[in-house]
This record gives sequence, C-alpha cells and structure tokens, in this order.
Amino acid sequence: MRGSAVELVQILQDAGYEAYWAGGCVRDMLLGVEPKDFDIATNARPEELKKLLNKTIPIGEAFGVILAEHGDQHFEIATFRSDSGYSDGRRPDAVLFTTAEEDAQRRDFTINGLFYDPIADKVLDFVSGQKDLDNRLIRFIGEPHERILEDHLRILRAVRFKNTLGFQYHPETFGALKKHANLAGNVSSERIRDELNKMIVHPSFPDALEDMEDTGVLAEILPEVQEMKGFAQPLQYHTEGDLWDHTILAIKALKPDAPLNLRWAVFLHDVGKTRTYDDTKERIRFDHHAEVSAEIAGVILRRLSFSRKRIHDICWLIEHHMSVYNVFEMEVGRRRHWFLQQLFLELLELNRCDTLGTIPADLTQHGKVLELYREDLASMPREPDRLLTGEDVMEILSLKPGPRIQEVLDAVRFEQLAGRLSERDEAENWVRREFEE
Ligand code: ATP
Ligand code: MG
Repeated sequence: MRGSAVELVQILQDAGYEAYWAGGCVRDMLLGVEPKDFDIATNARPEELKKLLNKTIPIGEAFGVILAEHGDQHFEIATFRSDSGYSDGRRPDAVLFTTAEEDAQRRDFTINGLFYDPIADKVLDFVSGQKDLDNRLIRFIGEPHERILEDHLRILRAVRFKNTLGFQYHPETFGALKKHANLAGNVSSERIRDELNKMIVHPSFPDALEDMEDTGVLAEILPEVQEMKGFAQPLQYHTEGDLWDHTILAIKALKPDAPLNLRWAVFLHDVGKTRTYDDTKERIRFDHHAEVSAEIAGVILRRLSFSRKRIHDICWLIEHHMSVYNVFEMEVGRRRHWFLQQLFLELLELNRCDTLGTIPADLTQHGKVLELYREDLASMPREPDRLLTGEDVMEILSLKPGPRIQEVLDAVRFEQLAGRLSERDEAENWVRREFEE
C-alpha cells in the first residue's frame, strides 16, 4: 500500500505536477501509526489525472476528487482546493482549485492539515500541525466558531480524534464545541452514524461519551441516552451508581474484537429503563425494560439510518438480554432452540458485559450458562435437518392450511432438538399420537 502510494506521487511529480500525501495519513505516520489509507493531494486537475493514470474512477469530480487504482489498491487523489462558502453548514457551495497552502487552510484540524512529500522525505506544514502533534492538541485551523458554522460535523470529528488519539482539546476548541453543541444534531443522519461507529469501535468510547455529555452534544444527537445520566437505580444491586455509570462500565467490559452490533447492544441495552422506572413496590423496579429498551433502540437506530438487518440484530440482543438465565428452567428441546439461535453467543457476551457493569459483579450464573451451552452443543452442534414439511403435516392430520401447521412443526422440532425423534416415520407416528383428535 505504502509503496504504491509513493509510486503514484512519483508519477505525478515526473509529469511536472506537485503531489503529496495529505491529511490523516501524514498525521498517523508522524504519530508512528500505520495509516489505513493514503490520500494524495496535487495541483493536477481531474481531467489531467484521468489522462495521466491508467485506472481512475470519478467519485467527486465536481469537488476535484478521483479514485485511482494502482498496484491493486485504491487511492483518493484530490486537486488542491479551497471551499468557498458553506451556507447550509453541511457542504461547500463551490470549490476553487488553488495551491497546497490554501488547501491546508480548508481542512479541519491542524493535525489533519499536513502534507508529506515521500520522494523528498519532507513535511509541508502551513498550519503548525507538527507542534500540535507534539503537544497532542486538537485545534481548529483558523477561527473555531467559523469552522464549526461551516460544517457542523466537525464537532463530532473533534470529539472522535481527541479520544481515539488520546489527545486534549485546545482551550478555544473546547469552548467552541460547547458553544455550538446545539448544531451537532443538524448533521445528516448518515454522517452522524459513521462518526459514532468510528467512536464506538474504539476502546476510548466511554471517554468520547463523557465528552459528548459534557459539551451538550449527546443531548442533541442521542437525547434518549442523555436521560440515563443521573438516573437512579436500586443501590442495593447497583453500587456502581446511576444508569449512566452502569452503561459506561458495561461498555468497558467489551472485548477488543467485539463486533459492531454487540457494541451498540451493550451501549443501548438499558436505554428503556428511564421509561419503566417504578418505585411503588418493595424496591425500585424496571419491569419489561428489555422490551422497551429494544423499542427505543429501534427508534434511535432507524433515525441514524442503520440497515434493517443491523437494527433487527441489535434490537433482538437488547430485547432478550434479561432472558438468558431462563435456559435453566427450560425443557431440553426449547433450551437447544435458544442455544442454536444465530446470535446466542453475542447475547451471552451482552450478558457478560451487563454483569460486569454491575458492582458487585457476579459471573457465576453466566459461567453456568456457558457450561450448559458447551455441553448441549457438543451433542448437537447445529440445527438438524427438518423431518417433516408443512405439506406432510397437512396430509398426516388432514388439515387445511393455517397456524396449526406451524405449531405442529415447532413441536416436532423441539422433540428433535431434545433428541427424542430422529427418523421421518418416528416423527409421523409421533404427530398422529400427539395431534390426531
Ligand atoms: P480517519 O480516516 O482515520 O478517520 P482522516 O484524517 O483520514 O482520519 P478523513 O475523514 O478520511 O479523515 O478525511 C481526510 C482528510 O480530509 C482529513 O485529514 C482532513 O484534512 C480533511 N477533512 C475530512 N473531513 C473534513 C471536514 N469535515 N472538514 C474539513 N476537513 C476535513
Ligand atoms: Mg482517512
């Protein structure tokens, strides 16, 4: 990847153009982190780039950005530009092709405004970005208020970079974030979602959450989550503190390789407790909070334009997070049905994080479920083939199509999962015995 990125710059420079690595990859390289992609900035125009390079894909030609394929990798090549005017706080009204120095000025933070010439091995720093990298500071290029008013997403980007890099905010940056927090919600749902996803997959997410809460950003983009701050729980079971403290601890229990859906499920698993609070009984209770949390999570995730499949899976996990221990009381067939659910292991992980989010934490029950799961699945590691079809059932019992068929099929499946039926004729006889009136 790095080698191809050097070659591309060489090709452009050989043709007489200025060309550098730009932005995030220079920042990462100077921090000693391997960049995940290399963006190139140049004074060559898109039409010139198309002539010069073999494989180009136009992705934002109006903005002067093309995608180039080189050495089996893709690279964004952007013509130096200045963005003139942001009347909607979302995208520039027009772009003007210009110099490297002006291109640096349109970028968001000083640490993101650096260029590097890999041929001459030279950093081009028009914005004092190297000094801020040394001081580990997130600082807007230019006037922070203006820069936020131009593009409100920069509020979330500041929070993300500060936390994923482990930096601090420059005092003026932080002041501007707080002042303009109310604008964070104006950003398109897809851009908010993408930023939140980048934050949530990083171990610093709890710190990012605290920052969003501190600045007032959270109340704008996730008001349902903001409500958890300071929200009471029964102290006899939760010495960790309020609902917010519990959620933060649960997130901290996630393993580094935890998938995105599980992360969102842990984050939102108790979001419905604020709507189910009841202290009229012997202690504070949150009856049905798992179902209500799943509903509210659905509202949040739809608002953020997540895919249907993702919303379904995250909400399924949340809805069932209080049901894990029911497996102890279940008949073996039904228990295996649960164990064979595609998301069961993720549900168990959610349960582990939820448990560790509680002080005092006791993983005994969790361990017993895991043990039972392993024992059970050792003898039946996957969903068995169906013994009967709906048509079979209709014929055996002389039934017309209707909900009864599915009931019979489910009953057969539970018997099969319990290991009591394994052959087709056994199943036929069993159905006759059990269901023929
Ligand atoms: P990463 O890809 O690791 O999230 P990055 O710095 O590469 O970090 P990108 O979103 O890929 O971030 O953007 C590449 C560069 O484009 C940034 O480094 C920055 O210079 C510029 N940039 C991106 N988004 C904005 C923005 N909203 N406002 C101003 N400049 C931006
Ligand atoms: Mg990038």
